[in-house]
Amino acid sequence: MSNSSSVASIPVATLGTPRIGPHRELKTALESFWSGKIDEAALVKTAAQLRADNWARQKARGVTVIPSNDFSFYDQVLDTSVMVGAIPAIYGWKGGPVSLATYFAMARGSQGDGEACEHGHAHQHHGHGAPAQEMTKWFDTNYHYMVPEFAKDQTFALSSTKPIDEYREAKVLGYQTRPVLLGPVTFLKLGKSELPDRMSLLPKLLPVYIDVLGRLAAEGADWVQIDEPCLVLDLDAAEKAALRAAYSEFALKVPGLRIMLATYFGALDDNAALAARLPVAGIHLDLVRGRAQAEAIIHLLPADSVLSLGVIDGRNVWRSDLPNVLERLEPILKQVGAHRIQLAPSCSLLHVPVDLDRETKLDADLKSWLAFSLQKMTELSTLGKALSGQRDVVKDELAASAAAAASRQSSPKVHNKAVADRVAALTADMANRRSAFAARAQVQRDRFKLPAFPTTTIGSFPQTSEVRKARAAFTKGTINQVEYDRFLREETRRAVAWQEEIGLDVLVHGEFERNDMVQYFGEQLSGFAFTQHAWVQSYGSRCVRPPILFGDVSRPKPMTVEWWTYAQSLTKRPMKGMLTGPVTILNWSFVRDDIPRSESCRQIALAIRDEVTDLEKAGATMIQIDEAALREGLPLRRSEWKAYLDWAVGSFRIAASGVADRTQIHTHMCYSEFNDIIDAIGAMDADVISIETSRSKMELLDAFVTYRYPNEIGPGVYDIHSPRVPDVSEMTELLLLARKRLTEDQLWINPDCGLKTRGWAEVRPALVNMVAAAREMRARA
Ligand code: GLN
Ligand code: ZN
Repeated sequence: MSNSSSVASIPVATLGTPRIGPHRELKTALESFWSGKIDEAALVKTAAQLRADNWARQKARGVTVIPSNDFSFYDQVLDTSVMVGAIPAIYGWKGGPVSLATYFAMARGSQGDGEACEHGHAHQHHGHGAPAQEMTKWFDTNYHYMVPEFAKDQTFALSSTKPIDEYREAKVLGYQTRPVLLGPVTFLKLGKSELPDRMSLLPKLLPVYIDVLGRLAAEGADWVQIDEPCLVLDLDAAEKAALRAAYSEFALKVPGLRIMLATYFGALDDNAALAARLPVAGIHLDLVRGRAQAEAIIHLLPADSVLSLGVIDGRNVWRSDLPNVLERLEPILKQVGAHRIQLAPSCSLLHVPVDLDRETKLDADLKSWLAFSLQKMTELSTLGKALSGQRDVVKDELAASAAAAASRQSSPKVHNKAVADRVAALTADMANRRSAFAARAQVQRDRFKLPAFPTTTIGSFPQTSEVRKARAAFTKGTINQVEYDRFLREETRRAVAWQEEIGLDVLVHGEFERNDMVQYFGEQLSGFAFTQHAWVQSYGSRCVRPPILFGDVSRPKPMTVEWWTYAQSLTKRPMKGMLTGPVTILNWSFVRDDIPRSESCRQIALAIRDEVTDLEKAGATMIQIDEAALREGLPLRRSEWKAYLDWAVGSFRIAASGVADRTQIHTHMCYSEFNDIIDAIGAMDADVISIETSRSKMELLDAFVTYRYPNEIGPGVYDIHSPRVPDVSEMTELLLLARKRLTEDQLWINPDCGLKTRGWAEVRPALVNMVAAAREMRARA
């Protein structure tokens, strides 16, 4: 390498780290605290230990720009609400420092009644006491944040000194950290308010930020990292003006403190000039998603500003090809000079699992292609050394990295020619049902002769402690396959008999054999791997362990046909085949970075299509393909929505279209707003769609009405996120609201979602009432 050996060493940052701990220590401590098993002092002590360990690990891995205040007891957005005193009146806060009790009341409700369904998607229901703040997805990640709420007459006051306390705590331990704050504009943008323009709150908010920045400077901080990921979104004029105002004000009021403005989750694109001209000392760029943006922005930056280059993927689990990254970095370095460069992951490492070394059961090749948070830190420090004239010192690391990349590129575990050929041979026809919906509907009506307002459920029945115990025993080996199957058959048999008994029209087998709607399929498909400990925080103490999609996907053998056949043998009524759709499987996994997501999705679609046609061959007359996560995959920029929806819907159609007109395809979606994707839902062309609507008083159906959606719809009449049993009249009222919007032929009756998180004690009366509501509707018709 031509670089002289005298170059200064290049700073290496993480931007933020997983806070949950390598053994999910924070989860354990939080849950023990909430259940009264440990006291606040013990919780606080565990948290301090986790932070100390985290700082030590970063230092040991060669990270030189170590963050503080990236820890949180629950969520960094909630921390920010608390820091600035944006605490709704309902929590009874009277000013002054916010107690942990108030903090957790905002996070979980004052009775801790926040409820989650699978994949950590959170829903709260309103019990007694104050409900939790609303929770929603953090950009396009699977992390959820607590939505800030601003009153019309909102005022702000410094109400938590957490950033300063944690800076000081690190300093005492010998670390000069770069504290992280969520930026004021992103904070306001992510909040909700009756105010027409949340940005009008900025002048009232800034003094609190200035106070915090001033205190950090007084404590000795020389840099702070301020996260403004809103800079990768479509921004309106008020938001742009707010960014200019905020950072000018900071430059004026806290001139000595250097700000690293962190942008991530995408490219700045049309916001590049705006961002580059903000009076800050440095800017962080996501060069994984915004691969080519560095070159464009360099020209816009002041000559002395620092560039933080986010070259290691903070959103995914793959090891980098370091020599390749170096090749990208070298011209940038030449252009701006090493003294202006920092290296970093594309975004905080919060979104990747902690430590690959803990995985002892992964295939050795696959393991050699992966990097979790600690391994990514090492990668960054290796890059840093290589760029600081120490390429020799790290030559073995670079060679190993290149070798892993080469092995992945050519491995038969990843590449399967038959799969690639099949995707290449896809024809438009394969994504079309044989006839249009109107014709299919006629054939299906004649075939099924269902009553008006047919009743069904979404698929799963309660995963009781007995079901979980049996699964655990089987996994541990204390019961064998024969015993486990006997248990599952008995559960299924009982569920089917009970559905017949209460008079449901279309039955389900109950999904007792499934651990999780994605994992169950991932485990049976080639191309997926599962980890032992690769947890990532979804929200609060809740963690998920997404499958790793590493190779071309194929289906070695039928996955659900046996269970379906058994279930159908127990009844004459239609038994729905039950599958998870390709888009949902994709969106809830760590995916490949060597081929486009659309390509992986089509591969999964073909595997599901095979399952659909096998079910049809086995005699299934109705098959449901769940696409719960279709909306979640929407890109952050509107301009990219169409391309995504095209391939996502296309994949669903590939999965669904291998069957005859007389076979009825159902789909299901939850946690959705439908307005902005209604065209796509129409284009999916499922014969029947069930959706979550009960809490919206059927208003979600308006989108379907405006669109003149012709196919059949089951709007949920029963909120499955609450243990409350709705009575008959409540459901009839919802159905009458639905009936105003849809024709009699269109309307199905079902709960909002699967019932796996509920107990039988609630499910039994609720479904009995639901069937009674259907009879009531028929009587009125
Ligand atoms: N069929 C799945 C179930 O009933 C669907 C779950 C979901 O939509 N999240 O559990
Ligand atoms: Zn659902």
